[in-house]
Amino acid sequence: MERDYKKWAAGLITGRVLFDAPMRRFTSMKVGGPADSLLFPRDVNELRKVVRYARRKRIPLLILGRGTNLIVRDKGVRGWVISPARGMKKIVVDGEVVEAEAGLLLQRLVQFSVRKGLTGLEPFFGIPGTVGGGLAMNAGAWGAELKDILLSVTLMKEDGETVEKPRSRLQFSYRGLVIFPSWIILKGRFRLKIGKKEEILERVKTFSEMRKKKQPLDYASAGSIFKNPKEGPAGKWIEEAGLKGLRIGQAMISERHANFIVNLGKAKAEEVIRLMEIVETKVYQEKGISLQREVKVIGEP
Ligand SMILES: Cc1cc2nc3c(=O)[nH]c(=O)nc-3n(C[C@H](O)[C@H](O)[C@H](O)COP(=O)(O)OP(=O)(O)OC[C@H]3O[C@@H](n4cnc5c(N)ncnc54)[C@H](O)[C@@H]3O)c2cc1C
Repeated sequence: MERDYKKWAAGLITGRVLFDAPMRRFTSMKVGGPADSLLFPRDVNELRKVVRYARRKRIPLLILGRGTNLIVRDKGVRGWVISPARGMKKIVVDGEVVEAEAGLLLQRLVQFSVRKGLTGLEPFFGIPGTVGGGLAMNAGAWGAELKDILLSVTLMKEDGETVEKPRSRLQFSYRGLVIFPSWIILKGRFRLKIGKKEEILERVKTFSEMRKKKQPLDYASAGSIFKNPKEGPAGKWIEEAGLKGLRIGQAMISERHANFIVNLGKAKAEEVIRLMEIVETKVYQEKGISLQREVKVIGEP
């Protein structure tokens, strides 16, 4: 069966198709085993073809942006992993409204808006990953969330049909958007405001510097591992539980930011997940707080 997944993916699209793709190469945490097939459709039509084919053959699908919020298990992913990150990166501006395809880097969208003298996206500068991943996660920083400036999202359903949903008909939460797991985000429309270029640039610089000070950006990571509970920042509770610097193999709870787990070189997913479990248990035992995971752990157990 596994072999068929690969055979079926070959030649289906003109975009790149990789077999037994090591997911550590496609995720910022740099852990994880192979995906049977990794497909990069060139455009919406190719994506539709993939989605319809997968549905007919009952092939499991997983959507990958830039893998900056993912821990892929060591045994990898069965079925097809699809990513819009290479082919679907168009961006269109109409006055103060910017429409960006799912595969565009969020960072590029911010840079584009700065060049156009449009304000609203500055807090998101430095958040790695794609527009699609950002919307799926309702990415945010410094009190802002992507949903705040969103007008609508266009989605592809499992039958390949597309639907545009206005913000009011979408259910966002802290680091999440509720959609059917099989639906794919194709693009987002954002409402920005005309501003002064120099001021926009200044704000971008400030946010960027604040980020550099707080985050351990010199190591591979998946950003914040846990959501901040209502009791306060997750990092504070992890630090107070005495877990900063705890290491298993090549995975370590960052000394700089306790809510980050860093890959010191050749960490295994298993080591990262074990650290996450220790944090969950210890913080609960010592503080009575149940930390919820922000990162998604995927792949074969
Ligand atoms: C150093 C570092 C700093 C970070 N800082 C922040 C921060 O400040 N704020 C913040 O919110 N996050 C932060 N993150 C986490 C991460 O960058 C965000 O969650 C980002 O939005 C994920 O985008 P991605 O494209 O990498 O998504 P991925 O990690 O590839 O995917 C994340 C989830 O979204 C789904 N998904 C991705 N694309 C689509 C699509 N087109 N349609 C449907 N579902 C999709 C995936 O299936 C998966 O469930 C940080 C990460 C790192 C490594």
